[in-house]
Amino acid sequence: MKSPTETRHILDALEAQHPGADTELHYTNAFELLVATILSAQSTDQRVNLVTPALFKRYPSARALAKTTSKQLEPRIHSTGFFRAKSKALIGMARALVKQHGGAVPADMEALVELPGVGRKTANVVLGHALGVPGLPVDRHVLRVSNRIGIAESDNPEVVEQQLCAALERKRWTRASDTLILHGRRVCRPKPLCEQCAVQQDCDYFHEARGV
Ligand code: SF4
Repeated sequence: MKSPTETRHILDALEAQHPGADTELHYTNAFELLVATILSAQSTDQRVNLVTPALFKRYPSARALAKTTSKQLEPRIHSTGFFRAKSKALIGMARALVKQHGGAVPADMEALVELPGVGRKTANVVLGHALGVPGLPVDRHVLRVSNRIGIAESDNPEVVEQQLCAALERKRWTRASDTLILHGRRVCRPKPLCEQCAVQQDCDYFHEARGV
């Protein structure tokens, strides 16, 4: 695996290739980002962004969402897929926020992962982007890209999160995740576009594929 210094240089190059990388989900506060991130599972950010304006208007707070029923909510999120499970998670999450946190989204990993439908990845997205607490969400893109380059070495998202966090300054965590996600979407796709990649010379996968 690459050293922390190498990892930092690689992230410098990737950040230069994808300046201003940020989540592509639309939101105006932590509650909205939490809802959008739950909806984004097995979907695309673009698809979620089509659904959320009307959804946030109808349910502008955890208190409003907590009062709804699956029958009312499911048609509003149907197009994001897995709508029954997502509806159950959203209502459960909103009710737990009201009951345990006065309707506010807690800026705390332990409290967030206790909420229905919220795993470490979702919690890290919300913490890093909406609550000012650096987090390094590891989705399938971060997992694929970091293992290919060799800045992480595991199929387990939590282990990859630990490896990347250990190599990078805390203040870089959120941007590093956004950058790796964007690189995975645009360049290091399942079928990678290595000729367009800023870290080609540092990438284990690239050298292995060419038998170097
Ligand atoms: S060189 Fe290819 S495999 Fe390596 S990070 Fe770039 S796009 Fe991905």
